[in-house]
Amino acid sequence: MQGRASLWVPGTDHAGIATQNVVERRLANAGSTKEDLGREGFVEAIWDFVDKTGNQIITQLKSLGASCDWERTRFTLDENLSRAVREVFVHLYEQDLIYRGEYIINWCPRCHTALSNEEAEGRDSEGKLWRIRYPLDDSAAEAAQASLDAGADAVGRLDDGRWYLTVSTTRPETMLGDTGVAVHPEDARYVSLVGSNIELPFTDRRIPVVADEHVDPEFGSGLVKVTPAHDPNDFEIASRSGLEILDVMTDDAKMNKSVPSEFQDMDRFDARDAVLEGLSELGLLAGEEEYMHAVPHCYRCDTVVEPRLSLQWFVKMKPLAEPALQASREGTVTFTPGHWQGVYEHWMENIRDWCISRQLWWGHRIPVWYCGCGEQIVAREDPTECLACGSTELEQDPDVLDTWFSSQLWPFSVFGWPEKTPDLEAFYPGNTMVTAPEILFFWVARMIMMGYEFFGEPPFTEVYLHGTVRDMQGRKMSKSLGNGIDPLEVVNAYGADAMRFTIISQAAVGTDINLDHEDVEATFSNGRNFANKIWNAGRFALLSLGDAPVRPLNEVMSDLALEDRWILARLGHASRTATRNLERYRLHEVADGLYHFFWGELCDWYLELVKDRLTLDTDAKSREAARSTLVAVLDEALRLLHPIVPFVTAELWSLLPWPEGSSRPEDLIIAPWPDSESSFEDPMAENQMEALRELITEVRRLRKEYSIPEGKRIGIHIWGGGADLTNTVMSQLSALERLARIDRVVPDPGTGVGANAVLNRGGELFIPLEGIIDLDHERTRLRKEIERLRAQIVTTAKKLENQNFVAKAPEEVVSKERDKLSSFQERAAKLEEKLDALEVGRS
Ligand SMILES: [Zn+2]
Ligand SMILES: [Zn+2]
Repeated sequence: MQGRASLWVPGTDHAGIATQNVVERRLANAGSTKEDLGREGFVEAIWDFVDKTGNQIITQLKSLGASCDWERTRFTLDENLSRAVREVFVHLYEQDLIYRGEYIINWCPRCHTALSNEEAEGRDSEGKLWRIRYPLDDSAAEAAQASLDAGADAVGRLDDGRWYLTVSTTRPETMLGDTGVAVHPEDARYVSLVGSNIELPFTDRRIPVVADEHVDPEFGSGLVKVTPAHDPNDFEIASRSGLEILDVMTDDAKMNKSVPSEFQDMDRFDARDAVLEGLSELGLLAGEEEYMHAVPHCYRCDTVVEPRLSLQWFVKMKPLAEPALQASREGTVTFTPGHWQGVYEHWMENIRDWCISRQLWWGHRIPVWYCGCGEQIVAREDPTECLACGSTELEQDPDVLDTWFSSQLWPFSVFGWPEKTPDLEAFYPGNTMVTAPEILFFWVARMIMMGYEFFGEPPFTEVYLHGTVRDMQGRKMSKSLGNGIDPLEVVNAYGADAMRFTIISQAAVGTDINLDHEDVEATFSNGRNFANKIWNAGRFALLSLGDAPVRPLNEVMSDLALEDRWILARLGHASRTATRNLERYRLHEVADGLYHFFWGELCDWYLELVKDRLTLDTDAKSREAARSTLVAVLDEALRLLHPIVPFVTAELWSLLPWPEGSSRPEDLIIAPWPDSESSFEDPMAENQMEALRELITEVRRLRKEYSIPEGKRIGIHIWGGGADLTNTVMSQLSALERLARIDRVVPDPGTGVGANAVLNRGGELFIPLEGIIDLDHERTRLRKEIERLRAQIVTTAKKLENQNFVAKAPEEVVSKERDKLSSFQERAAKLEEKLDALEVGRS
């Protein structure tokens, strides 16, 4: 709408773990496994499943009115996108940015695959910290005594006389994989013990005490048990000090054959209990305490992740992160809300290598082949023979890549890269990235890094992170909690516009959106009412405009009435505000501003003021000016509202009569966005209309207050507001008649009894009530009401004078009574004033 080329490529990723899990579960229900089908058969079964269900997201997007280019719909496993994946893998490998190695990775025992650090985020959990005594070898007695003498309180003697060390752990079962205990080399308490041996309980293994700089002497006792195969820090200690590495678990996180037989095949948590029980029996459990700590969970299935030594493929992230970090620091890439910049930079500064191999069958298979001769081939095209020995017996790596490895290429892979396609030329780089904060690292950061690596520039320069839809308690909507709202059901019941408006009007920068799933109707009622209001107002205007040709606004400028100039000025204001707020991602303010303009100004006032001029054939010039204004205002208002409520606006706009001599854009979605620079301004008209609106609002208020029957016509007096006010009011008599049933305006203070009000913008208003309402009846009513209030005032005041009550009642109750008293007093004073006006009257 602003004349710039734009493209929204719709698409989906193959959601490796999630999709494979679903299909495996379906197979299990049918009594089969993926192994029964074999790799090829299983992948085929997943394609079947995806073909049948994969369209759901696209269907939802369409129903919601997302204006994507549907012909360009992409899928991460499409041939072209897979080619991009292959190219990127090989390129990064050639740059030494991809490597294979044995490191501690996050293993999901439920999904049977490695996960990246981001996929195994720690969640604060209540756990326990157990203190365990490890008996020392007899030969370490002297060293232990020295340690004790040096002030070590984690060293002592067991009942049987053996010396021990105390270590702490949150995962006691891992002790079966301990291969050492580490201390800081300069920790005077333990220096004598370095080189001594420990008799690891339950096992016949002796493990050494080693010194390592990375042990924090301040943490716990300063003694650290080392389980190299199940902890990343321990793995590093082992690499530095040459400790043995012992994996003690299976893929299912059961204890494997390398632990003593009594623990073998036990689930890790059962093994934890068994180890604790055993230690307790041996007198080696020194104590336990409650302990809050971060426990990593699988982001797909929520199982507790097991850190585990494994041979995997990794991306070296530091060099890739450098330009992407720089881009944020220099402001080349900006974040809204702004605090995400710090979060992004912190992550990029501390980035760790990315484990990209997954032990799945669904996804992009790693393009690496192994030959029996030891050769490893990484290739863009599938190799047919070994380059070293000529053998054709090549075996491709069985693993697939992390789904995000392909998603991170989205900004250019969807355009056919590595080919230099016209789409790539036209649409890369883009401008704006809109997404949820929870995938800032998974996706946004990686896309920026890939942009720099392959194009030397970022794929977008603005990142807008929107809020999350939650329930009224702030919980995420989920199937298991049953607190979700199905967007398609809302669209069917209330329309996409209603849903969009409701959500956008709550989309304040940096806040989440809370929707009541228990009362969906109430939740979306304001959006539905607004969409209906737009439709009804539009239909009414179209009917009133009739079929006659409409003249362009610039030809009727000299005939514009006050209300025409006012609504054009208000439109200019609404348009400038909406544009500015859109550009700052203040979407809720856009929705709110346009709502108030359309409903509060256009419908409630302008349409009422202009009605007569559209239907009565009194003054042709005035009528044409009104028609041109109405068309111009509706046209622009519908353009402004289009991004928020596309369906109702597009339909109405297509029915709008078009001014003669100008060509109509093909569709609302490509009609020019209102130009803020040239929009209409008229402060004088605004001032005059505001005065008129205030007057009418006051008259309506007084009519209600004095119970003047709705249809009853009244005269009013205004004075003291200057000639401007008087002239404005006098020129709008027919509007006054229709909007407030005023049939006479007298420019003097008036006499007799009646209602009066002071106007904020200067001037006073008086409505004579003699002959309008039954004054005697009203006076009696007022006296009675005042009497009743006075009685209540006395009762309440007495209560508050009672020291006993004030001292004994809860503070809440007392303050409630005080509020009651002052509200009674206020109301009584008001009614007395009113009664005065009705009794004395003005002279
Ligand atoms: Zn899992
Ligand atoms: Zn070979």
